[in-house]
Amino acid sequence: MKRIGILTSGGDAPGMNACIRAAVRTATAANVEVLGIRRGYNGLIHNEMAVLDRKCVTNIIHRGGTILETSRCPEFKTPEGRARAVRVLDEAGIAGLLLLGGDGTFRGGTLLADECNISIVGVPTTIDNDAYGTDYTIGFDTAINTALEAIDRIRDTALSLERLFFVEVMGHHTGFIALESGIAGGAEELIIPETPLSSEELCAKLKEAFKGGKKSAIVVVAEAEQPGYSFQIAQEVKKNIDVESRVCILGHIQRGGSPTARDRVLASSLGAAAVKALLSGKNGYMVGEINNEIAYTALADTWEKKKGLSPRLEELVSLLSA
Ligand code: ATP
Repeated sequence: MKRIGILTSGGDAPGMNACIRAAVRTATAANVEVLGIRRGYNGLIHNEMAVLDRKCVTNIIHRGGTILETSRCPEFKTPEGRARAVRVLDEAGIAGLLLLGGDGTFRGGTLLADECNISIVGVPTTIDNDAYGTDYTIGFDTAINTALEAIDRIRDTALSLERLFFVEVMGHHTGFIALESGIAGGAEELIIPETPLSSEELCAKLKEAFKGGKKSAIVVVAEAEQPGYSFQIAQEVKKNIDVESRVCILGHIQRGGSPTARDRVLASSLGAAAVKALLSGKNGYMVGEINNEIAYTALADTWEKKKGLSPRLEELVSLLSA
């Protein structure tokens, strides 16, 4: 294999740049040229690419976002769009392609792998941690630390004003960010899609807590594809148990920022492993890390199968908030 391509697609995630750096340096050490494709599948379809050498990836390990930029590309969902992408790949002489993205990127990658003759390997980069086949995705650790910092700050205000706060975090359709930032931030309750809590149950729990002497509380809410959902919950709580609350929606601040050490190490490890996988002839896999070992999962499994939350961690929230 003489030339490979690399692109970042879907939502940006802290650690994408560290992953690009590791992939480029691993490939160039093996005398393989790397073409950086701009703006995800959009840039692939429209032939926006340039050579990335070792120097191009200097001083990017600490930067959030992605130097290659990213996008959502509806055209890639059509057979015609993907056929155009295949032509561009052939004309550029790309023999292997690295896809850095989340489940949507891997859905597209699964189709592309069936429709072209080049090898494709994915690397899970999403703050949501919702890819099956890896314990953690690149960007998740930074996102939960960003959420945690916000929760800690809000706790100061909640304590000082004796207030109930709902802190809404991202996570696509999952509660991974809510669960880990909630445990780390000492949340009194969690509202996550995996274990739904009815409004009556939440109100009963909060009523009990305030009756028992609590003067403030933090409930971490997973947005679960309904950003702003916390306002509805706050209104229900006000109506049912007459407790005033405030809502804080963290939103996109969870996406940006310098990656944590953990994310940089994971990104470096998976970026290098992905290139090695391509060079050893692997095709149609995502490279992840399970129990500290590199793991290869068929691209289709990464989005068809569901990764569950840890029941052990879920139990902790109510046990520790008493
Ligand atoms: P994140 O989880 O961080 O949002 P993602 O990779 O899931 O990242 P998406 O916007 O869902 O982000 O997907 C990225 C791109 O992958 C889409 O813009 C589209 O080009 C392609 N894609 C998504 N789903 C499909 C599909 N079913 N068929 C073909 N391509 C798809």
